[in-house]
This record gives sequence, structure tokens and C-alpha cells, in this order.
Amino acid sequence: MAKMKALVCRECGKEYPTKAIHVCEMCFGPLEVKYNYAEVKQIISRKKIEEGPRSMWRYADLLPVEGTNYLGPHAGMTPLVRAKNLGAYLGIDELYIKNDTVNHPTLSFKDRVVAVALTRARELGFETVACASTGNLANSVAAHAAAAGMRCYVFIPGDLEAAKVLGNLIYKPNVVEVEGNYDDVNRLCSEIAAEHGWAFVNINVRPYYAEGSKTLAFETVEQLGWRTPDQVVIPMASGSLLTKIWKGLHEMKAVGLINDVRTKINGAQAEGCSPISTAFKAGRDFFKPVKPKTIAKSLAIGNPADGYYALKATAESQGSMDMVTDDEVVESIKLLAQTEGIFAETAGGVTVGVLQKLVKNGTIKKGDVTVAYVTGNGLKTQEAVVDAVGRPFRIQPSLVAFEKTFKVGKNGGGDA
Ligand SMILES: *Cc1c(COP(=O)(O)O)cnc(C)c1O
Repeated sequence: MAKMKALVCRECGKEYPTKAIHVCEMCFGPLEVKYNYAEVKQIISRKKIEEGPRSMWRYADLLPVEGTNYLGPHAGMTPLVRAKNLGAYLGIDELYIKNDTVNHPTLSFKDRVVAVALTRARELGFETVACASTGNLANSVAAHAAAAGMRCYVFIPGDLEAAKVLGNLIYKPNVVEVEGNYDDVNRLCSEIAAEHGWAFVNINVRPYYAEGSKTLAFETVEQLGWRTPDQVVIPMASGSLLTKIWKGLHEMKAVGLINDVRTKINGAQAEGCSPISTAFKAGRDFFKPVKPKTIAKSLAIGNPADGYYALKATAESQGSMDMVTDDEVVESIKLLAQTEGIFAETAGGVTVGVLQKLVKNGTIKKGDVTVAYVTGNGLKTQEAVVDAVGRPFRIQPSLVAFEKTFKVGKNGGGDA
């Protein structure tokens, strides 16, 4: 299959072979995957996709792998939940949650990008995989590497949540905790990547890795009955996910799956690490790096690699960006749980918090078909909410004790 044409520099357009390289040697711009859309258009159709596997690999015609020996074959096709209760609370008619809290196998959107990165890494002959991570990426790389029997190094900041640390150790990769924040980890990993011939999923394999994010756009459109949403709200760390959702929507048009892209892209960050949202609100097309300080650790990248492109995509779509405080993150996690029964991690709180802000300030209107991307599972960031949810009622094991606590009455009704 010749669907993948080349790696192409996002700045100067110079083309490169589809190997493990990520920077243009002429202008140092980042490389991305270019496809033969005319050829893909000949072979792809709504019907073929609908008859494909119940995973993100139903979109393999638009993913940067050559074979069909997929690593991570079950990632994707997570539920698109019609959020009637949350929609009613916020005052919008048609709201959906794209629920990647239940992605396979490690309960975050990162299973999509890792499935693509490691499948491609294996195709390119790598036996050792590695990553610089804010938490979820490491979990996913470690799990996939274990299943594939690949050697694995994951590098994480020194202050990660307990469940995310444990969620590495259990798979027995080499877990390297770096005394510093993500930006320190990333800088170190760039040096290590230059010394060792490993597949660093978000460094030298980044062009392939990033493509996995497009499947969140593809699936959303299919699950809406081949409609594009009017508004989407996307959490941002490096800004890659947002950029690729925008790319994915345009690819669907390029290969004839949809006629038009009218979707407004909205980016979400936590106030304590909001270099991209801050730049957008100030009307700048460049961001200033920050030192992160927020409970939304999975989004805590102070110097975001795709920040510039995220600003560009959002502006092109006539969308918006905003940020919320850590208190608002916690309130939004509770709101989503208590209206829709979905327990999201802090990044989900950022998304729902910003969604709420954008509805309140009129950016998202009552009639807009809106999709909020909830990208990680709340059981991984329990520290963030443990003091905000109260305690159970504790009673003796007797009917009297129960009745004393809950004055329910004989025929039901009434709560404690
Ligand atoms: C990594 C991550 C994101 C987005 O990351 P980008 O670097 O912007 O692509 C969003 N949510 C969660 C939970 C993540 O782990």
C-alpha cells in the first residue's frame, strides 16, 4: 500500500522518507506524515469503515503504518455519550462526551497514539521503545511494550500521581523518575534519543505517534452519523491532539467521507499551565513558556511542542481557547461524574470546566452540536478529588442503625 507518501516539513515543505526522523535538516521545522489522498479516496468509503474492526484501526487507510500486524489492536471506538443531563444543566441541546476514560488498555487517549507509534516502530525494526511522559503516555507505552515483548524505558517527572507511577511499574519497564518537571524530562530525553538508537515515541517517532490522535476526529464524525460537530472542546498539553483533530477533519473531506468542515475548535488548559490559552486570549500567535503549577499534571507542559500549531488551527476554525483554576477542575470532575456517571481525571475536569465557561460567555450556543473530549480516567488521579467528595456513612451492622441514619419510611421515599 502506498497510502503514506512521505514525511514533510510543516514549515518549508521539504520531503523525507518515512523513517524515524522528526526534524527538517534544512530549517529545523517539525515533520509530519503526508498521504496520497487521491489513492486513499479510491479505496476508502463509509461502508468499508463501518464494516471494519471495532477499533480505531477501522481508519487504517489514514494511519501511517504499512502492514496490518497492529500493536494495540483494541484501542479506540470508545463511546460517544449523549450527555443529556450535563447538556440540560449547561443549557445546550446536543452535547456529547467522547469518553476515552475507557480506552484500551490503559484508560486514556494515549492508547491511540501509542498503538500507532509502536506499530510503526516495529515496522521500522526497533526493539527498544521509550518516551518522555506526563503520566498517561508512560502507562500506555509500558503496557504495549510488555504485550509486544519489546524493551522499554519510560521517563516521568518526579511528582506524578501514585496510580500513574504504579501503572508503569506493574508492567516492569525501566521506569526513570527524573527530579524535575516534564520540560526537564523532555530535554533529557532528547539528549538520550540522540545517543541511543531507540524508538522514542514522542521524539523521533513523533510524526507517526501524533497521527493516532486523528482517530478521535474520525470516530466522532462517524458516531454522529457522519455529521461534523459545530463545536469541540479539546484539552491541551503539547497541543498535538488539538492540531491533529483539525487535520483529521480536513482529511475526511479530502478523501470524500464528508463534504464540509464547519467545526469550531476550542482548546482547554489549566490556569497553572496555560501558555497556549494565554497566548490565544492575548491575540498572540506565539506562546511564552511557563513553569507549570497545577493538579492537571497530564497537561502540565510549560513549553508545548505544538503550541504554535494549536494556536493556528484554533484561529483557522474561528474557535476559541480558555483556562480554568484547579478548584474549577475539581468542581468539573464532580459535575461530570454526578450528571453523566463518568469519572474523569484532572484533564477531563479541565475540558468540562472550559466547556462550561464557553457556554456561559456565549461562545458555544444552545443549538450548537458540541463534543467534549474527556481523555483520561479519574481512578488515576484520586489525589485531586479525595478531599472533595466527603466520606461514606459508617454504621453498625444493624437495621436500627441503618434506619436511624436514613429516615426512609416504610414505602421508600425520603433520603437521609
Ligand atoms: C497527553 C494528554 C492529552 C493531550 O496531550 P497533547 O500533548 O496536547 O496531545 C490530553 N489528555 C490527557 C489525559 C493526556 O494524557
